[in-house]
Amino acid sequence: MRPATLEEHVPLSRYTTLGTGGPARWFAAPETLDELLALLSWAAAEDMEVAAVGLGSNLLVADEGFPGLALKLKGELAAAQVEGELLVAGGGAPLAVCLHRARAAGLGGLEFACAIPGTAGGAVWMNAGAYGGDLAGVLGRALVASADGAEWLTPAELGLSYRRSRLRHGQVVARAELRLHPRPVEEIKAAVAEMQARRKAAQPTNKRTFGSVFKNPEHELSAGRMLEACGLRGHAIGGAVISPMHANFIENAGEARSADAIALIAEARQRALQQFGVRLEPEVQLLGALAVPPLPDDT
Ligand SMILES: Cc1cc2nc3c(=O)[nH]c(=O)nc-3n(C[C@H](O)[C@H](O)[C@H](O)COP(=O)(O)OP(=O)(O)OC[C@H]3O[C@@H](n4cnc5c(N)ncnc54)[C@H](O)[C@@H]3O)c2cc1C
Repeated sequence: MRPATLEEHVPLSRYTTLGTGGPARWFAAPETLDELLALLSWAAAEDMEVAAVGLGSNLLVADEGFPGLALKLKGELAAAQVEGELLVAGGGAPLAVCLHRARAAGLGGLEFACAIPGTAGGAVWMNAGAYGGDLAGVLGRALVASADGAEWLTPAELGLSYRRSRLRHGQVVARAELRLHPRPVEEIKAAVAEMQARRKAAQPTNKRTFGSVFKNPEHELSAGRMLEACGLRGHAIGGAVISPMHANFIENAGEARSADAIALIAEARQRALQQFGVRLEPEVQLLGALAVPPLPDDT
């Protein structure tokens, strides 16, 4: 039976930080694990693709939309609380809330997350990290739901490595247990303030972006410096522009479409290959009928 909480044709541009993307054919916001499992079973029975959407802070959705079921975790699946030295977070809990709870309880280890505007679930999927910390360093285990049920997986089982995991659409991080350690609140506040100041000085934090476009390559130059050397700062296609402040960011200058961002990504990859012989790998995740055009000799 079709779950009563399903909505149709919900615009996903509301749920991405770039503010682009078409509608999800189906959309639901489960608040409990049982609701989530029922939705996953229904989608499997309908042979429908499923994707969770966190804060959409590293997500590019096709302008035509996503023809499957998009899930936005809410209620207890988006709450966070401290249990001893564990921070137990719903997959939909914003990292800012997780960090707030940890700081209030005098627990350190999650300070790096102050620079990452995503959810706990999105951060597990991406193995998000900054300033020397990442999810793999604090994650004890994650409860992953799929049409087959829910199971706890360790970081090794999740295959966490530089900005990636082995998770696939249809697997939803319902809960994450983060292992933290006692740290004086004033020290946590000072560390967070210092990272936030560094971030504000270097990145377009007040613009609509989806964070880093590319992973940093194994090269003496970061992706941002490489694209800057290619002369791409400020380069625009349609309503999307390579940030004049940091070339590894794409800003929505007003009326951007996801296709504009994809065209910029394709051009940036070509230029980095021509000038540096480097094949930049996108960090941003794609949803719907959207693909980065291959480079010559890509397999
Ligand atoms: C200004 C800015 C700065 C940023 N800085 C950093 C940084 O320093 N370091 C860094 O690592 N990232 C950074 N990011 C990128 C982004 O914040 C992270 O990748 C974050 O982890 C994405 O989380 P999200 O909840 O927004 O996921 P989304 O962007 O919504 O989704 C990303 C992927 O995760 C999947 N997903 C989301 N939630 C779940 C879930 N519950 N279960 C299963 N899959 C899920 C989605 O299907 C998608 O494939 C930045 C982004 C911005 C806009």
